[in-house]
Amino acid sequence: MIKKLTLYASLYMLWIPLISGCEESILKVEMLAYDPVSDQMVYKINTVETLDDVPTLSGRATRIRGGISIDISGDKVTVNRAGTPVAFNSVKIKGVHYPADYDSLAMISIYYNIEQAMLFFENLGMDTTTMGKLDTWYWADVNIIAPTNSETDEAILNNALFLAVNGDNRGFYVMPFDTTRIDGPDVPLSMNPGVLTHEYAHAVFQYLVLDRLPAHIQYPSVDSPFYINANYRMALNEGIADVFAVARTGDPDFMVTSIKSTMIARNAESEIVYTDWMDRNAAGYTYYPFDPYQIGAFISSIVYEIARQIAGIPDGNDDVPADAIRFRIAKWTYDSLQRLGEENLPDFVPAHFFSQFVAQMSKEQQLVACAVLAERFMPHYSEVEGCQ
Ligand SMILES: [Zn+2]
Repeated sequence: MIKKLTLYASLYMLWIPLISGCEESILKVEMLAYDPVSDQMVYKINTVETLDDVPTLSGRATRIRGGISIDISGDKVTVNRAGTPVAFNSVKIKGVHYPADYDSLAMISIYYNIEQAMLFFENLGMDTTTMGKLDTWYWADVNIIAPTNSETDEAILNNALFLAVNGDNRGFYVMPFDTTRIDGPDVPLSMNPGVLTHEYAHAVFQYLVLDRLPAHIQYPSVDSPFYINANYRMALNEGIADVFAVARTGDPDFMVTSIKSTMIARNAESEIVYTDWMDRNAAGYTYYPFDPYQIGAFISSIVYEIARQIAGIPDGNDDVPADAIRFRIAKWTYDSLQRLGEENLPDFVPAHFFSQFVAQMSKEQQLVACAVLAERFMPHYSEVEGCQ
């Protein structure tokens, strides 16, 4: 009798972890992290909070997967090889997990960055579970199929991106990288906190804006009247993603630690003025040759200038607005997207975003923001509600 009871008891004990398999564990783990003070990658013990299955790195923030191969041709994605689970190997010493191989080290570092980005949006008031599961494809084989015969297909390297293949299959793609140097400033994009916030913001934008549009408006054909608005949406998507990244990291030039190219003018401190040719590009270029970063960089830089002015930072001084102000900016941006999502979105243009953005400010802050908009957003200033 006693024996039987013991057997039941031990069976019960065995079943507990299976039944409560979704419980999140708190994991202290050594990883590669970007240290803004030394501008280097360093080994650091951080706490990962949201994993519900440690061996396969699966949790509320994302599920890391490996082995995928896809082709991107225009707006079509072909999956050549489906992904597989990954294995996180570590040695536990005095309560801290030390990754036992390089991939485990890289994968847990990436998970942590995505988790931190998710927690940032949750702090802004977002229920991230409504977006559905977001996978992260580690060391993904992603090929851009050449649009013409004279060009060759190209595998993407040293990059990280968010991709919504369809309603069920969406997530982050981390391409093979060779820029990890613990003694240098080269931060792989997938371990750059600003970049991961930017990519996570694309998932949020997809959910709040793009998912609410019918397909013929979201992916218009070249001769569709919705074409120009699709370009503006792409630009807003890129610009707003940078706004969140700068707000979270407090680094207006967060990309520079990963990409040295001077071709990429993404520093939010740049004084970019909106010009008519930006509209001409949005109207004249088809979906893919259109460069969304021109208007995108404008949006990020003007929002940063508004933050500086609200913080009372004088011209010529490169102080960064304090955490509380940057959080306000992120909150206004997030709430603007949410409000826009409840409206008719097909004609979503930058002026609509700024109308929502200034609507949430105090009268005093509005005056400051409108003065900046009057100076830099001249062609469309009159369309910003609340600034007249
Ligand atoms: Zn982007």
